[in-house]
Amino acid sequence: MQGTMMNFPLTLTHVLERAGRLYGDSQIVSRLPDKSLHCHSYRDFYRRTRALAGALQALGLQKGDRVATLMWNHYAHLEAYLAIPCASGVLHTLNLRLHPDDIAFIANHARDRFLIVDDVLLPLLEKFKTQVKFERIFVVPLTGKPVPDGYEDYEKLISGSTQFVAPAIDENDAAGMCYTSGTTGKPKGVVYTHRSIVLHSLATATVDCLGLSNRDTLCPIVPMFHVNAWGTPFTAAMVGAKIAFPGPHLDAVNLLDLYESEKVTLSAGVPTIWMGMLQALQKEPQRWKLQANLRMVCGGAAAPESMIRAFDQFGLRVIHGWGMTETSPLGAVNYIKRELDGLSSEDQYAVRAKQGVPPPFVEVRTMAETGEAPWDGKSMGELQIRGPWVASGYHELPAESDKWTSDGWFRTGDIAIMDAHGYIKIADRIKDLVKSGGEWISSVDLENALVAHPAVQEAAVIGVPHPKWDERPLAVVVLKPGQSATADALRDHLAPQFAKFWLPDAVMFVDAIPKTSTGKMLKATLREQFQNHFIK
Ligand code: AMP
Repeated sequence: MQGTMMNFPLTLTHVLERAGRLYGDSQIVSRLPDKSLHCHSYRDFYRRTRALAGALQALGLQKGDRVATLMWNHYAHLEAYLAIPCASGVLHTLNLRLHPDDIAFIANHARDRFLIVDDVLLPLLEKFKTQVKFERIFVVPLTGKPVPDGYEDYEKLISGSTQFVAPAIDENDAAGMCYTSGTTGKPKGVVYTHRSIVLHSLATATVDCLGLSNRDTLCPIVPMFHVNAWGTPFTAAMVGAKIAFPGPHLDAVNLLDLYESEKVTLSAGVPTIWMGMLQALQKEPQRWKLQANLRMVCGGAAAPESMIRAFDQFGLRVIHGWGMTETSPLGAVNYIKRELDGLSSEDQYAVRAKQGVPPPFVEVRTMAETGEAPWDGKSMGELQIRGPWVASGYHELPAESDKWTSDGWFRTGDIAIMDAHGYIKIADRIKDLVKSGGEWISSVDLENALVAHPAVQEAAVIGVPHPKWDERPLAVVVLKPGQSATADALRDHLAPQFAKFWLPDAVMFVDAIPKTSTGKMLKATLREQFQNHFIK
């Protein structure tokens, strides 16, 4: 027997229409390059987004055509987010932090047809423009200066647009694409569908996930080119939340000023951002009046427990989450389950430092060599995942199909430990685990413990070839400005928390740890740099 319900498509067209119809008065505030604030309403957003969609149609955009963006987080990027898929195109957010040659490679691989670019990013575009054949390039005049010759004006495109007639869209049509930022290897394209984005948005809005609601003011710090700012702009549009976009100003002081002036209640970013913000707050604890219910979503790399504790002292809640480009990205979010209410606050911190539990419709398992690892809080295995917003392949890269198991799970490349309550703890990337004398050592655990030392700003632990033990851990440490610590002091700090063989054999003090474009530590570079440290 079939059900009698409508087969209503899950498309972003509905999200846009809803945003315009129900939430016209909601506000969108963007910090511009000159630090002034650009303010408009969802009513303006709706009108302009439909105008952009109509203009794209008039340009001859065909179903599935890719439209690239090279933009910071602001109102015009949000317009592109909805207009391109609603016009049946595919939003392709280019990562402006990559090397220009890599951006060109990605734009060519995706066969991007049009480009929308911020005027302040034209110097970057100039570096790879000759390598890519965009048919048309539209420039968003964020600075208010005239658009230079050879480019078209985004504002003129919008104001000259005729009526938008929403095309029929199948919920499984492509809506957006992102390339993995990858710590190794060439970037790989993931193509999201209308359906996957809509379901991801619905899950994100649930209270046990991010609980993003109409009453929130969202500040997406994570760039809109990094897994669609973790999908938050779509979720915000769906629920009509106010949005405060930081534009290109991602330093702690500007962000905290924005939090204060716009009364931000939900924000999302990588640990590096939060560590910077924490230091600013510690330096001037009275300076900012922040919202009491401010939640800060931390993902992209592990949130150190010491950081979660430190923010608690300011009454600010860090929500730890885990995800990947391939998982849209929401794969797990941390909240204290009711059955854990009886835990001491110490034990609750240990839970909050885990990456969380999967949201509805996402399933995870950890696979060891011998089969599925038990959920016992100690057995490790490769984290595998499946669900309606998990990729089932890469764009035009059939050779990468070994990333999926024969029974249809995505192999994340992360090593995790599941506990009996269903919390995921990421121990490492497979390639970052340190194998010493046949025993595994989690670099992430050591790093989190190192940054809890008051003098340490950042730490990376890598496995380095060793004549006797195959590999031994070596810590690479950045000290806070004006602070000092010796290698022995740091080892003494770690000693009570770890087995002796886990303690790094060497500690190297450096000025900075190399990072990827999305803020992940580039351990491959460090491994190369220190490869001969124990083998002379
Ligand atoms: P990306 O696709 O660039 O977002 O990178 C995804 C990878 O980032 C994951 O496979 C993890 O290795 C890492 N990652 C993301 N979130 C976390 C987290 N909360 N803790 C530890 N690693 C994380």
